[in-house]
Amino acid sequence: MRFALLCRNPKLYSHQRLIEAAEARGHEVDVLDTLRIYMNITSHRPALHYQGEKLPDYDAVIPRIGASITNYGAAVVRQFEMTGAWTLAESVAINRSRDKLRSLQLLSRAGIGLPVTAFAHDTGRIDEILDMVGGAPVVIKLLEGTQGVGVVLADTKRSAKSVIEAFRGAKVNILVQEFIKEAGGADIRTIVVGGKVVAAMKRQGAEGEFRSNIHRGGGASKVKITPEERATAVRAAKIMGLHVCGVDMLRSNHGPVVMEVNSSPGLEGIEGATGFDVAGKIIDFIEKTATPGKTRTKGK
Ligand code: ADP
Ligand code: GLU
Repeated sequence: MRFALLCRNPKLYSHQRLIEAAEARGHEVDVLDTLRIYMNITSHRPALHYQGEKLPDYDAVIPRIGASITNYGAAVVRQFEMTGAWTLAESVAINRSRDKLRSLQLLSRAGIGLPVTAFAHDTGRIDEILDMVGGAPVVIKLLEGTQGVGVVLADTKRSAKSVIEAFRGAKVNILVQEFIKEAGGADIRTIVVGGKVVAAMKRQGAEGEFRSNIHRGGGASKVKITPEERATAVRAAKIMGLHVCGVDMLRSNHGPVVMEVNSSPGLEGIEGATGFDVAGKIIDFIEKTATPGKTRTKGK
């Protein structure tokens, strides 16, 4: 089969692993820099161009769209969908999962366990927002943050108020969440491929750190998840409309709660911690499933 891998940096571990796994199975991979693809959107025959050439029809498109280029990346994927290409992640699903408010709304509508969360644009009602999530301690998050940057634990109402005011002064969007203390600074990251959890790890924050991000000094290890955690991850993937995703959960007193569903999960941490060949599972899934013309939403 012939695949297009859309990414910015082909040298990244995850991208190298996907290329390796595809080539090992006898497939051909064109690695395309997402931002260098251009398209003629007035044409009646949608097409994509790259380095002066029209791109061929692919058996599957594998988007690895970074958060900083979500909109252009999703437009490129949508254009592929308009040509009838099959894509591992549909453009609508990429946009949906990148929008935290939209994601949590969709998951909550389906009854998925979530930390009690409040969103507000205006901070005139801080007391009510804090009450809504059960009062301090609370976790305050920058909506655009990654790798734990912009995730703050406020122990008291006073500190919560000053953090919220500071973030608002910086004109950034935030959410306020109940603090899941019993998670003990750990979270569970599962990778779902084709409706099955193929790998799971526990990330534990450094001593005294409530955030479990590896970038914040945390460690990761293979973990056995409960049937409820497995079912939650699989349902979250289905609700978000993603064949492949990372589902991050916290172990709360009231069962697993989902923090985030990631449409381009990194493979280095999870393959390192579990020893599983996640890239191989992804390529096997594509082999089995990719059918040009069978993209569900075509960006609509
Ligand atoms: P990012 O997307 O930047 O990694 P997260 O929302 O995943 O930010 O938060 C980073 C880490 O902080 C999580 O992995 C988790 O360990 C911890 N954390 C986040 N939200 C909560 C919460 N509501 N209660 C307890 N711990 C949390
Ligand atoms: N029906 C729309 C869609 O599938 C709305 C759901 C959503 O917000 O993602 O894209």
